[in-house]
Amino acid sequence: MISMSSVGKTKKCLRCGLRYPANELLCVHCDDLADKEVEELKKSHEKELQASQNLGVIFGIMVVAHLFTIFLWKIFK
Ligand SMILES: [Zn+2]
Repeated sequence: MISMSSVGKTKKCLRCGLRYPANELLCVHCDDLADKEVEELKKSHEKELQASQNLGVIFGIMVVAHLFTIFLWKIFK
């Protein structure tokens, strides 16, 4: 049974750490996985998180470098 209040809500799975719809009884990510497979899922999820964080850092450095170039260009113009 799906009630209106649970539509669109998610809960965090204690086993794999991923979020799944709150109206599901069992986690959609790890319900059919063995413990070892859950560990691999967690690891790959952490890697993805780290990759996106690294991308954010690189983008930040690019923005700072760009602003610094404009700054130097204005001084030496
Ligand atoms: Zn799970």
